[in-house]
This record gives sequence, C-alpha cells and structure tokens, in this order.
Amino acid sequence: MIKGVRGPRSLLRQIREAMASGGPAQTRLDMTVSIIARSMVAEVCSIYLRRASGELELFATEGLNPEAVHATRLNPGEGLVGEVARSAAPLNLSDAPTHPNFSYRPETGEDPFHAFLGVPLLRGGRTIGVLVVQNRAARVYDEDEVEDLQIVAMVLSEMVAGGELVDLAELKGVEIAPHRPERMKGMRFADGLAMGRAVFHEAPVAPERLLSDDPSAEDIRLKAAIEALRAQIDEMLDGQHGLVGTPFEVLETYRMFAHDRGWNRSLEDAVRSGLTAEAAVERVRNEHRARFAQARDPYIRERLHDLEDLANRLLRILAGEKPGARRDLPDDMILVARNLGPADLLEYPREKLKGLLLEEGSAANHAAIVARALQIPCVGRLAGVRDRLSEGDAIIVDGETAEAFLRPRADVIEAFKTRFSVRVQRRAEFAKLKDEPAVTADGRRITLLMNAGLAVDLDNIEDTGAEGIGLFRTEFQFMVSEDLPRLDRQTELYAKVLDAAGDRPVTFRTLDLGGDKVLPYLETDREENPALGWRAVRMGLDRPALLRLQLRALLAAAHGRELRVMFPLIATVDEFRAARDMVDVECEWALRRGRRLPSTLRVGAMVEAPSLLWHLDALLPLTDFISVGTNDLFQYMFAADRTNPRVSDRYDPLSPPALRALSRIQEASVESGTPVSLCGELAGRPLEAFVLIALGFQRLSMPPAGIGPVKRMILSCDREAARRGVSNLLTSSNGSVRNEIESLARKLNVAL
Ligand code: PEP
Ligand code: MG
Repeated sequence: MIKGVRGPRSLLRQIREAMASGGPAQTRLDMTVSIIARSMVAEVCSIYLRRASGELELFATEGLNPEAVHATRLNPGEGLVGEVARSAAPLNLSDAPTHPNFSYRPETGEDPFHAFLGVPLLRGGRTIGVLVVQNRAARVYDEDEVEDLQIVAMVLSEMVAGGELVDLAELKGVEIAPHRPERMKGMRFADGLAMGRAVFHEAPVAPERLLSDDPSAEDIRLKAAIEALRAQIDEMLDGQHGLVGTPFEVLETYRMFAHDRGWNRSLEDAVRSGLTAEAAVERVRNEHRARFAQARDPYIRERLHDLEDLANRLLRILAGEKPGARRDLPDDMILVARNLGPADLLEYPREKLKGLLLEEGSAANHAAIVARALQIPCVGRLAGVRDRLSEGDAIIVDGETAEAFLRPRADVIEAFKTRFSVRVQRRAEFAKLKDEPAVTADGRRITLLMNAGLAVDLDNIEDTGAEGIGLFRTEFQFMVSEDLPRLDRQTELYAKVLDAAGDRPVTFRTLDLGGDKVLPYLETDREENPALGWRAVRMGLDRPALLRLQLRALLAAAHGRELRVMFPLIATVDEFRAARDMVDVECEWALRRGRRLPSTLRVGAMVEAPSLLWHLDALLPLTDFISVGTNDLFQYMFAADRTNPRVSDRYDPLSPPALRALSRIQEASVESGTPVSLCGELAGRPLEAFVLIALGFQRLSMPPAGIGPVKRMILSCDREAARRGVSNLLTSSNGSVRNEIESLARKLNVAL
C-alpha cells in the first residue's frame, strides 16, 4: 500500500461508489474485490462466504482463476481460509505454503502466491465469511494493513448482511443471520408455555450508516459520546442513578474500560479511517468478541460481556436514546438476556412480557424467582442463545420441558397452539374450583396453602383460592434488592403480606440464604460445598444481628395479629432451641419498649435435614409446628444437588425410602400432636400430592399454579382407598414406585 495515502478511507469511498453504480450483485462483488486488490497492492483478493452447511464458498476473486468462483468450497476448518473462519481471527503469513494448514486447490491456480492475509467477516459473533489478500512475494503485511483489511471486512459483512453485495437468492444458503429452526434445551426456571417475538434486553444496535463523509465530525460525536458514557458510569458509581442489578465491581470494570486508552484508540482509529462512530463501536466490538470468544477462562468471558454492555451503552448514547428510555416493544415479547438484575424484569410491561430466555442463571436466580412470581415461563442456561437469534425472531418458550424453539416450524407452532389452548381450558376449570373447599371423596378436609416470597405473589391468594401462605420465603426480598433491606422495608413487606392474607394464616420462614442464594452485598466466603455449607439458620445463629433484625420486623409487622415463624434447615434440636431463644429475646425487647406483641406466636422448624428423622421425639415437643421441606430433604437424603441438572432429577421422590421418611414424620407428628405441613415443590404436583394425602398429610403448601390441579385431584380421591394402596408400596423393593402409583390412581379414578 502506498504510504501517505494509507488508510481505508479512500478504499471505502471507492467501494461505496461501486455499490451505488447498480448492476447485478455479482458484478458489484467483482468490482469490490478488484478495488481492494488495487488499493492493497495485492495480486489476489477473494471473498469467501459461509454456506449454512459450514462450507466456505469462493464468491468473488481478483487474481485467482475466475472458474473457481462458486466452484471452490472449503470444508469447515479446511485450509488457511478455514482456519481464519474457525479462529475468527486474522491470519498473516509471509510464506503460506509452509503453514501446516495450507491446502492446495489446483482449480484456483494459487500456487505462486506466498504472502497471505485473511480476516474474518464477522456478524453478531459469528464468522459469515473470510476476506483474503495474497501476494506473490514472501512479504509480511504490517499492522496497519491488517487493521485496514479488518475495517473493510466489517463494512463488507454489513453489506452482505444487508443484501447489498450478494443477490438475495444467493444469500439463501449463506448463514448470515440464523434463519433455520432450532431447538435448544436449557433448565426450567419457571413453568408455562409462551410464544412470541425475541426482544433483546440489551438490544444490539446495528449501525445503520457505516461510512462517514466527514471523519472529523464523527470524531467529535464519538468523543462526546465517550464523555457521556463516562459521566453515566460515574453517576452510577455515585449511586445517583444506581442502575439496579449492576454490582459495584462490574461498574468499576466499566469505568476502567471506558477510560482504557487501547479501547479509545481503536475507536478513534476506526473513525479516522472513514467509519461512522456507530460503525467504529461495532467494529471494535466485533474484534473483542472474536478475540474473547475462544477464551475458556470464565473471568475473561465475563469481561467480554462487560465490554459488550459498554458498547451497547455507547451505541445508545450515539443514537440519542435517553438512559432507561423504552423501545417500542411488541405485544408478545419474549425477553432474551444473558442474565437479569433484580428489578430488571419488573421494568417491562407485564402485559407484553410473555416469556423469558436466559443464557445463564440458576433457578434460584433473581430473574427466575421474579418470573415464577409473575407466572412468566422461563428457560435458563441456554448458552449462546443470543447469538442464535435476531430481534423479532419467533420463539416458543416451553417451561414444561425446559426447551426453547427458535424460529419454530409450522408443525411445531400447531402443536404448541394445541397444548396452549388445553392449558387455558384447564386454567378456566381450576378457576371455577377456586372457592370450593378441598375435600376428598370420602369427606376428609385438606388445607391447600401457597408458597410466596414477593409482594407480586400476593394477588395469587385471591386468584387461586389458597387458604393461606404456608411458606413465605423472606430471603426473596433480600435477593431482589440492591442492598440489605433495613428494618422498615422488611416490616413494610411483612405487614403487606399479612394485610393481603387477611384472616388466612401466613407462615414466614426466616432468611434462608447461603448455598446458591448469595447476595452481592453480603460478604461470604466461597465454599467447596455450598449446599452443605454456611447457610440458612446456621448463618442466622452465627450472625444474630441479621436474624434478630428480621424477627423484630416480623413482630412489628404482626402488631397484635397472629404470627407464625419457622426456621430453615434445622439439623439438630440445639439449633432449634437457640433459634427459639432468639424469638423470646426479641419478644422481651419489644415488651420492654411497650410494643404490641402478636395475638398468638407460633414457632416452627422446617424438617429438611435427614438427621432430624431420628430425633423427632426430641424436636417435636419443642416446636409449635413443623413443615417438611422436601426439596432439601430429598437433596440430602439422595446426596443429589438440587441445582445440578445432571443429578437433580436422578432420584424419584416416589420411592420407598423417600415415602417411608415422609410417613415416619407424619406419624411422629400425629403421635406428639404437633401440626405438620409439607411445603416442597412436589406438594403442587397432583400425583405426588395424591401420595402425600394417602400418607396422611392434611396441609400442603405449594406454588400457586399447583392449587387448582391438586384441588381437582383431591375432589376425586378416596383417601382411605389411596392409603391402603400406597401403604402396600412402602415395602416395595423397587427403586421407584411411580408406575405402581400411577396405576393405583388410575384404578381409583383419580383426576390427575
Ligand atoms: C424445601 O427445601 O423443600 C423448601 C420448601 O425450601 P426451599 O425450596 O426454599 O429451600
Ligand atoms: Mg429448603
């Protein structure tokens, strides 16, 4: 390249002029490669585009045999071009034939060429093709030339994707944007079915104008935008406009990047070379994506996400969008995000939000908790889903099977519609049962309560006809907050819950933090085995200030009403004694200050640690009630981490050991006259609830969506016949008795 006039600016201008000249796409593509070859003083310039099969097809060339165009196709990873596509990074060689990946294609006539520079055509983190220049002489392309070619590649990628360079008919087979139906399997975060159109939480803003007429004006725009970005981050750090969900360390990293000379210089260089500020951001982002995408180190991948977020922010500033401004959202939006902060989901209009897909997260994650509370189907752990979607793509979220269907085929949509309407019908049926008491066919009254944890859950009491809240998970408020909820905020929430419940009982469970429920603002050590670690009541007893504050808030909220409190993960009777003593201390404290105590105060233990099974005789007399947390109890009994999808469903609760454990707890509580309820997720599944009722449980607390189906089951169930059938199965030698229970339920005509 001739020094002095280097830089792709004039090159980009020529390409633009060639584009504007009209004519068939192939002619314009041919013109483009000759312009690049001439400008780069290269004997060869070729463009390869990736077919949906992964093959890289030669689409245009200057310097290679023209017959090879559309004839030469390289397999994924084949040859140097394949290597550029695979690594998504430039490859700069002075003597290409000596490279181990060199593969000779006689039809191209490329043997006399030694110098090789290939750069990927990138779009949305995917390689859609490769741009190559070659020279006869063994020379090394300098850094500036590599940079220039990458800028040209970026512009070409956008043009190809925009249909400017290649006939749309030709484009059909090229994997420019994902267009084929795909099915991805993730983890179920919230049940339900939804269909709608993809909306990205952090919308990737595609640069509309790529090439600038006036680089100095673009430079001013860019600098102003970077200034605004820095100011935004500083404000966020000062907490003035605290962006919910962005932890302090991430903001610090943002600030570091926003001031990073390298990042700034890359952006400025790109603008100087003739790109608009938006295109410059996109260009630098593409490069980072390609560079970091290979990284295995989770820390580095995390930084890539930070850079992405930063690039998005910058693009939004350039687009003149005010922070927090809402885009036009479709009425059937399926929100797609890497992960969501505590309050992010609540910022979207509930009536438009139909489903949620997350790349990361866990079922105990904020977004998942809020999604369940709002009854929005959510599938998580869909690695790479954002790269496989474009905004507006059709999506089906199947919260039942933990699948996402991207751009589903017509038959999948039909099947979905059928399932969806069955669900709607069943819901309508359940709604009719809402005010009917749950009584078995042989007259036994069962109490159906619901599990809750957030203010948004409270509407469900009326909607489902729940007879109270059997488990209020107080840690949810902590998990969806930016900082530690103080006494007044806790009191306010608990009072609101009691108000909403009216005469119906509410059982508050004290903080069940630790394990996988970590709070960004609460320092805890990383543990080898968090599920077996410093969590729940263990934390509360070791850090009494937190637990006492909560008990104080509960007493204040009850203010003369009934209060029921229970402690999670009690593993020994001594722990329960210590926890109960703390309640007494708080009551005394309140009395000393002349506060009003609850009309009745009941203190219970959750039975979640198998150790208690052999000490119920000591525990039960100390408690006012117990509640069986089967989610944890079975995780510990079967030694299977409930958050690990590989093992969480490996063991069946409908198995003799699990059922015998439950039966033992139930019998012991009857013997000692201690009320018992069961509040694990399985209480909300009709077949499982059928077994629980057969075992004698009369109080079940479950996710709100379970109440209708379980009530319907109860109304059809002869409890005495169920008891006889199930008790025979307790001594079975099978690992699971699910099939036998299903047959029994069928035989007894139980509505499942
Ligand atoms: C349980 O463990 O069964 C339970 C109800 O508590 P959580 O799911 O909140 O751990
Ligand atoms: Mg539990």
